[in-house]
Amino acid sequence: MTANGKQLHVLGLSGGKDSAALAIYMRDKHPEIDMTYYFTDTGKELPEVIEFVNRLEGYIGKKIIDPYEEISRSNREKKDFDYWLKQHNNFLPSPQSRWCTIQMKLVPFEKWVQSYLDDGYEVITYVGIRSDEPYREGYQVTANKKIKVRMPFREDSIDLQGVKEILQQADLFSDTEEAKSNPNSAQAKGLPGYYEWRSRSGCTFCFYQRKIEWVRLKERYPEAFEEAKRYEKTAEDGRDDGVFYWLGKDTPLSSLEAPERVEQIKKEHQRKKERFLKRKRINVLQVNTLDIDRDHMDEIYDQQEGGGACITCYK
Ligand code: SF4
Repeated sequence: MTANGKQLHVLGLSGGKDSAALAIYMRDKHPEIDMTYYFTDTGKELPEVIEFVNRLEGYIGKKIIDPYEEISRSNREKKDFDYWLKQHNNFLPSPQSRWCTIQMKLVPFEKWVQSYLDDGYEVITYVGIRSDEPYREGYQVTANKKIKVRMPFREDSIDLQGVKEILQQADLFSDTEEAKSNPNSAQAKGLPGYYEWRSRSGCTFCFYQRKIEWVRLKERYPEAFEEAKRYEKTAEDGRDDGVFYWLGKDTPLSSLEAPERVEQIKKEHQRKKERFLKRKRINVLQVNTLDIDRDHMDEIYDQQEGGGACITCYK
């Protein structure tokens, strides 16, 4: 603690299960900590993410603030994806150039807490890295070395099962038809509905999605898929040397649309899932295969941390 005793405790919500469980955990186990919860809405979030954050706000009984809105009161207007796309000459963000996370999430957060640091506060940020996750130094939590990082799930040995139990007990969706009628649904387990078809939160067009998730996005939210295609059209303007699309160089989303291609992607996903279950010696008859998609998508695709997807967006 600083000599003046001023402290700001902050916990960022991504719309994912780990940060949500951490918010519930801190509220229930550490009511003595005056936590400030925040969620940086990119303007392109899935409707299920917004619903989840709203329900969480009700549970923790505190307003979840948006750093964008906090800083815009004094020094800038709220800026969303379209604004930043123009600033980047219509180059879509990608794993190699992830300006979206920096401009839409990290910068607003750092600007917001800077005013507290300037005012002599000690700032402590709480992050939902679990005890069962491979830990490496340098998680992109914050670039500001003055901000202290705490990982209560690691400190208290809470793993994936522990996170699931926290969400199940909080039961945020208990009043929904889905939760009442289907005990295997995501909502019945206290999880947001997008876990029925996608492994992580984030923008509708996030380039960290696997092909199977793009296919499911098109099936669930065709208008969001069409919007993602329109952004690709914008990215094409004036470029004839090969264009980077959401799926990478020279691979527009339209390449996923033919029915036979959709079928192929679904079969390929099923094949990978079966290979994963075999490798882990899990009996396919004893598991809810949706749980496997929800919890093990990275392992199914032989990746760690979503192939580099940052914790700011999906934790
Ligand atoms: S969710 Fe994906 S597209 Fe959205 S800010 Fe994060 S990395 Fe970028």
